[in-house]
Amino acid sequence: MTDQRDTSPRQIAVLGGTFDPVHWGHLRPVLDLADRCGWDRIHLLPTCAPPHRQQPEVLNTHRLGMLDAAATLDSRLYVNDWELRQGMPSRTLPTLKHFRERCPNATLIFIIGMDSLLLLPEWLHWERLFDYAHFVVMPRPGYSLDEARPEVKELLEKRQVSIEQLSSGCGGIYVAESPSVDISATELRQQIGQQFTLNSECPEFLPEPVWKYIQKHHLYGVA
Ligand code: ATP
Repeated sequence: MTDQRDTSPRQIAVLGGTFDPVHWGHLRPVLDLADRCGWDRIHLLPTCAPPHRQQPEVLNTHRLGMLDAAATLDSRLYVNDWELRQGMPSRTLPTLKHFRERCPNATLIFIIGMDSLLLLPEWLHWERLFDYAHFVVMPRPGYSLDEARPEVKELLEKRQVSIEQLSSGCGGIYVAESPSVDISATELRQQIGQQFTLNSECPEFLPEPVWKYIQKHHLYGVA
């Protein structure tokens, strides 16, 4: 895990999520983008849900454990527990301010899935987020810009940039055409509980080290 002050100028990519569990739908597009954009560090940032929202099925230590297992796949992946350590529901604005302070010379890239872009106007202080970072949107099967509400369409008219424009500044939105994987953590939890046992091969949508972690700790009803 890392959270030290980092003064070298470069791009820092951040993917926040519940990661209950982390899966190829998160990792495949992110690693493809890292190859194409030259990112040397991708922070995987597990979030803390507000009390009135659905809580993760497994303990935070296990969400972190699964992320640590996933991070063994590629040296650019970093697990960052900053939001969990705040002890309060996660908000993206303080998180981006934190990264800006920790990495004053870096270009910040905040990665979200297409489903999250479609809901962005519901996020607290969403318009101020662009003062701190570029946004990169991963395609997600089942979610399309065609269904975007007018605020999102206007946002893109104003802010959409090319991949080359991500290398400096902030405030752009790059809609990526990276490979996409049709899975959600909710579906995966159901599949694991219903169809997989301790003797099963790794499910298609999970990295092998994450599956080993799940088996070892009997998560999601694996027995
Ligand atoms: P849930 O089923 O609980 O919604 P999830 O995997 O969709 O799970 P998160 O782990 O919170 O949810 O996702 C973190 C980020 O990754 C979000 O920005 C989400 O839009 C994105 N994401 C998740 N799954 C995919 C996928 N299959 N393709 C593209 N983006 C994804």
